[in-house]
Amino acid sequence: MRVPFLEKSRIVAAADQVLAAYAAGTGRQAQPPIPVEDIIERGLGLRLDFVTFAAYPAGADVLGATYVAKKLICINQALLGDRLEGRFCFTCAHEIGHWALHRQLVAPKASHPDDAPRILCRSSQAKTPIEWQADAFASCLLMPEAMVRRAFQRAFGCETLELVNAQSAYAGPLCFDPCAANWPFIADALRQTGGFHNVSKQAMIIRLQGLGLVRNATSRKMAWSNT
Ligand SMILES: [Zn+2]
Repeated sequence: MRVPFLEKSRIVAAADQVLAAYAAGTGRQAQPPIPVEDIIERGLGLRLDFVTFAAYPAGADVLGATYVAKKLICINQALLGDRLEGRFCFTCAHEIGHWALHRQLVAPKASHPDDAPRILCRSSQAKTPIEWQADAFASCLLMPEAMVRRAFQRAFGCETLELVNAQSAYAGPLCFDPCAANWPFIADALRQTGGFHNVSKQAMIIRLQGLGLVRNATSRKMAWSNT
């Protein structure tokens, strides 16, 4: 589906609006770990279900779906495992993003059967604009900027963490060298300090770089495997 370009500031505002509406509706300010399932059900009044998507071609590739007319969000139940909690919560937040940003674009038409998926999210299509926008929204929702900045300040101080070395000569349980190879430790320090327990280290390091709090000045790529 084609979607209009959205400024990042509009995506940030949409995520903030969802959090504000949740606080107003429940009397509870969401704190990390941001309760995405409760936001879907109590905050937005949507149903949340876990399915296999076996009925769709290459269903295993489908991470989630948002059914606008049915006010229903479905998540691939394969993401429910503990090890994939970060991915599960990110997918929930991603579908909230579709609801907040795109539901008007896929208003049900008379020619559509009621159960047709209005937005179907496949991992193989993650780079399309509509999926990028929903990912950006999910990052803002799960890791609100002010909360991330407070946690970063407590963990690392006020300065941007410049990663000038690719590899460290040492690493231990009590301290680590902030080099590019140690990005999982940096991300995890933020998760622990800020309580962002339902986001992956990958999502956190991307958010930190997006906010300009971490800068990788080396040519070493931050590899995502085994983290
Ligand atoms: Zn999507």
